[in-house]
Order: sequence, then C-alpha cells, then structure tokens
Amino acid sequence: MQSLLRRIPKVDECLLAIHQEQEFENVSLGLVKNIVRAVLEATRQKILQGQQVQAESLTLPFFLETIHKELIRRQAPQFKRIINGTGVIIHTNLGRSILPESTMQMLHQAGGRYSNLEFNLSTGKRGSRYALVEELLCELTGAEAALVVNNNAAAVFIVLETLAQGREVIVSRGQLVEIGGSFRIPDVMARSGARLVEVGATNRTHLKDYRQALTEETGALLKVHCSNYRIIGFTSMVSNEELVTLGREHGLPVVEDLGSGCLVDLSQFGLEKEPTVQEVVASGIDVVTFSGDKLLGGPQAGIILGRKTIIERIKQNPINRAMRIDKFTLAGLESILRFYRDPETLYENVPTLSMISTPVEMVNKRAQRLIRRLRKNLAGQLECKVVDVMSRVGGGAMPEQNLASRAVAVVPAGIGVNRLEASLRALSIPIICRIEDDQLLLDLRTVADDEIPLVENGFTQALSNIDTSVN
Ligand SMILES: *Cc1c(COP(=O)(O)O)cnc(C)c1O
Repeated sequence: MQSLLRRIPKVDECLLAIHQEQEFENVSLGLVKNIVRAVLEATRQKILQGQQVQAESLTLPFFLETIHKELIRRQAPQFKRIINGTGVIIHTNLGRSILPESTMQMLHQAGGRYSNLEFNLSTGKRGSRYALVEELLCELTGAEAALVVNNNAAAVFIVLETLAQGREVIVSRGQLVEIGGSFRIPDVMARSGARLVEVGATNRTHLKDYRQALTEETGALLKVHCSNYRIIGFTSMVSNEELVTLGREHGLPVVEDLGSGCLVDLSQFGLEKEPTVQEVVASGIDVVTFSGDKLLGGPQAGIILGRKTIIERIKQNPINRAMRIDKFTLAGLESILRFYRDPETLYENVPTLSMISTPVEMVNKRAQRLIRRLRKNLAGQLECKVVDVMSRVGGGAMPEQNLASRAVAVVPAGIGVNRLEASLRALSIPIICRIEDDQLLLDLRTVADDEIPLVENGFTQALSNIDTSVN
C-alpha cells in the first residue's frame, strides 16, 4: 500500500505540467489547484480503502487526463439546457413547466431593470409585492383574496401554521399524500405545529367520520388532492359541499391542497375531468393552494386563494417573509396568468398546455421529420422507426393519465443502447431519453419543432463521441 501511495504524483508536479498547456492558460490557479488536489486525493482514498488500482492509472499522463476532463467539466456552466425526450410534460427533475417567449422577456426586464416590485405607483409610497398579481388571481378564479409564496409545499405549511398551530386538523386517511422528494402531508403538518387527526378507512371516508372527530381542539378540515396515486374500486370520499357545510356549522375553515391546480378543463384532450380551481373556489372551500409550475404552466410558486379574513392573517404571519417570492417569479406569474384571460389563444401560448393539447397527428409528423433526417445522415450507424407510446402529464398531476403519442425508437449498430443513451446525456445540450425493450425511445411530444435539428446533430455527435472513446 505504501509503495502504491508513493507512486501518486505530487501536486506541484501536476500543476507544472498543466501550467505549460495553452488550453488552460487563462484558468484560475485556485480552480486548477482545487481539482488537482481532489483528483489525487480520490486515488489516495481508493488505495487506502484497499480498492483495486491499475498500475497505469498511477502515471502522470493518466492523472493529467483526468484533471483535464474535470477542468473542462468544471468550466462549463453546471446548469444546462436539455432536450426532454421523456414525454413527461411536467417533469420535476427537468424543470417542470417551461415559459413562453413573451414571459421570458418580462423576466429579462425584471432582472436587468428597476421595477415597482414593492412600490405603489399611484401613491408614490411603499407597495405590496403580492398586490401585483392578487387582483388578476381573484379575477380569474373568483376568489376573494390571494397570496403567492415560494412553492405549494410552503403554501400548505403556512396555511396550516396560521390556522391550526397547536390545534387538530382532520384529514381523510386516503389523502395522506407523499409527493416525490420528501413532501409528506403528515410531516408538513407536524412541522406546522398542527396535530393530524386521520379519519375514515384508506378507501372510504364518510361525512360522519369527520363529524365524529370534531373536538374543542379542531382547528381546520383539510382535503388533499391524490396527486400521484388513485384509490379505485369500492371507494367513497366526501364532497366539497358537504365538508364546507360541516365546517360552517362549527365555524371551522375548510382547506384544500389541490396540488397541481388547473384553471381550464382538460377533459377535451382525453384526460380525466378534474375540478378546476374556479369550481373549487365556487364550492365554498375557504382556502385553496396549488403550484405555479404544474398545470398552470408558470414559474415555481405556491398560490393561496381564499377568504379575505384568512388570507389577511396569512399575510401577517412573520413566516410569510421567509417564503416570499422574488421578482422573477412575480414577473413570470403575472405574464402567465394574463394568458388565461383569452381562452382562444391560451393553448398556443402556454407551453405546458400546448404540449398537452398537441394532437397525436402533429407529434407523428415531428417524429417522421426526425426519422427522415436520422436515416439520411446516420444510415448504417443506427436503425430507427416511429412507434406508438404514451406521454404523461407528470408533476404529480393526473396520475395514470396518459396521452397517446409517438416516439422515435433507435437501435444503434454495433454498440449497446445504454452507451448511446449515456453519450446523448453527456452532450453539451444533453438529450434525455428512456430505454425500453433494448431500444432508445425519444418521445416527440416534449420536443419542440425547432429542436429537431438539435436532436439530429446530437445523435451524430453522440455516436462519434462513442467511436473515438472505444479505442
Ligand atoms: C406537488 C404537490 C405539492 C407540492 O407542491 P410544490 O409546488 O412542488 O411545492 C403539495 N401537495 C400536492 C397535493 C401536490 O401535488
């Protein structure tokens, strides 16, 4: 072990060699040192842990190559644009909703210029940042008042903290949701200081279950959207109207976490009918929360709608300051909400809705276009065909709900499909696909028309990168 450790080059030796290379002339010395140390240390740890280390991997040229690769990687921006070939429209890992060009212009302006973020232009005095979208939210949904926080998890938290800290909140057992990535209703509730009271059975909850659970300690009744699962078969849930009546009888607020929250009816595109935000507000629910970047198609945000008295209390909660949205969110959200005023052009303008509503024939045309280009330029290197697939809405919105779509299925010649997938993922604009039955699938529903040439070039590049690294 000692003799292996001694063969690791010295930091200075590596620095000197790199210093002589033109390519890294202008790279900060701090960064180079940092990487050299990390690379050498990783090998030292490997040896100390008794892992197998090849003799050739302890030579200076080998270390230099690793250091080069790492330098190139670290110099490129780590936050990258990618091409989404997964067919999952609201993909939380890939940035959820994407914004239209005119909205991007608002963000551009919000970032590069001063704004009236918290300045009332009619009085010349301090204003409220929420006021800029509150009016619009109320106009579109029929709510009395509105507030926007950082995301829907924050929205649920602050609503419970404000209305039910130290008190009990009654929830149906069938609605104790866990959203991927550590959002669980029972945990959020515990943190807010509210005590969870579960009622009913997993598949059936009746009004009498809520009624029997009411005590002096009850602070609110909560409904949660089963965003990413379904309970099917012998089931029964209490309607909003019944719950609202019960809440009124006992002077208790009824809260609904809608999760995705949608302002339009998407059943015309073959999706299951879900109550719209407007319908939920009209049903008399006192507070409604939903995400800005799921079906609404906007930036990350948590939208809270409800009665004026309740929203006012939430606004006054000191935690609100810790959850407040920034100017980019505000600019993006206002711009997206304004599209909802015109239902005629809404579906063309908001990308999330546009991807949901694109007819399969159009996705098919896109797939055919890509196939023609791939066959023309990469004949012999891969085989491809158009296949029927199902796209998903995603984002914990509409589970099990699929949209008929088309994918290009690719089988590379002479190499495994896994290597092609990894090589596409390593591109400067990575192309993210999935593998099914030993074929690479690229769903065209989530790929824009103007991305087709990028995808084509990406395949060419990815294949050539594999060829050179094989030998
Ligand atoms: C997605 C979701 C959340 C969390 O919303 P974020 O905007 O991701 O914070 C909370 N509740 C439900 C029911 C959801 O679907």
